[in-house]
Amino acid sequence: MNQIAPTPEINPSSSLDPAQFASADGQRVNLIGIPRTQLNDMLVERGHKPFRTKQLWQWLYWHGVTDFDAMTNLSKHFRQSLADEFVIERPRVSQALSSADGTAKWLLKFPDGNEVETVHIPEADRGTLCVSSQVGCTLTCKFCHTGTQKLVRNLTAAEVVGQMMLARDAFGEWPTPSDHSRMITNVVMMGMGEPLYNYDNVAAALRIVMDGEGLSLSKRRITLSTSGVVPAMRQCGEELNVNLAVSLHAVDNDTRDHIMPINKKYPLEELLDACRSYPGVTNARRITFEYVMLKGVNDSDADARQLVRLLKGIPSKINLIPFNPWPGSDFECSSATRTAAFQTIIQEAGLSAPVRTTRGEDILAACGQLKSESQKLRRSERDRLEAAHLAAQVSAVD
Ligand code: SF4
Repeated sequence: MNQIAPTPEINPSSSLDPAQFASADGQRVNLIGIPRTQLNDMLVERGHKPFRTKQLWQWLYWHGVTDFDAMTNLSKHFRQSLADEFVIERPRVSQALSSADGTAKWLLKFPDGNEVETVHIPEADRGTLCVSSQVGCTLTCKFCHTGTQKLVRNLTAAEVVGQMMLARDAFGEWPTPSDHSRMITNVVMMGMGEPLYNYDNVAAALRIVMDGEGLSLSKRRITLSTSGVVPAMRQCGEELNVNLAVSLHAVDNDTRDHIMPINKKYPLEELLDACRSYPGVTNARRITFEYVMLKGVNDSDADARQLVRLLKGIPSKINLIPFNPWPGSDFECSSATRTAAFQTIIQEAGLSAPVRTTRGEDILAACGQLKSESQKLRRSERDRLEAAHLAAQVSAVD
């Protein structure tokens, strides 16, 4: 029987436990990821004037410097006192890869040996950065290979926002460029992990990403993808007001209980109520529902009609995602004909329901199979395929 992880308490303040600010060597404090008000408090406690916070913040997040000596409008004394106690650290990139279609992937290795991935997907009109929130995942969605990996730990705010900063480093996007010339125009919290099970750190990181005096990315260009952690959805909407993507994948509680055990805790009715009342949802700002096509499980005409009924009154877009089988998975992908029939029913009801196959076909059956077949592949080839698979999933969100 599946154990559902308890929903973490949500911290009503935006302060974080200072223990997580320790530098990699544990000797000093890493400035990256500290919420702005907390940073201000830390500087004031040390006898610095509050206006120093703004100056420092801009050096960290607008200019992206990693060396205190580069902060030329700060006095030598202040720079030295910062260097005595603080560092400016990014996550360490253990491998950087780029695929033929321009997708870039960074494998990050943290001081405790844990690893996550960050992926950049360039498209004609945007560049999307897919960011991880946890090492492993608390949940055990049956169709998801990540779900077979146990949660190892939550990422800190520094490790979340650091993913964007190292991507900016790679593209030379410092100081923060204007909107039209950015390589990173969008961020999706859709990498490894359930971001709403690591709400405080993800929220702190996204506040830094959205801060107009720093990384300065509009909330309209940020999408948080959740499996349906209902109690945190409203808070996420009210506090961050970012776009929402929901992994739906089934239209009745029995099926969803089976393929997404979190449904036993937050059943469809509660999940859809939370979507209906998600702050800021309009026809111009719809919720994206992700729906993986599983043969004989969730892909009948009746399922499509039920999906239309369920989403009535919710400004929605449905992404139909062909399932990529992996060894040990219990599912097969719906046929193209079945998927087309399913799509037609939804579209005839007036809803947008693109099928994302183009990029996924590059890596036909890649997800999951990679994990075993990949033993035979060169590491670089395996990484290219994994990045391409992730790109296919991410491009399904706009
Ligand atoms: S689909 Fe998302 S929430 Fe579910 S197991 Fe996979 S990573 Fe976790």
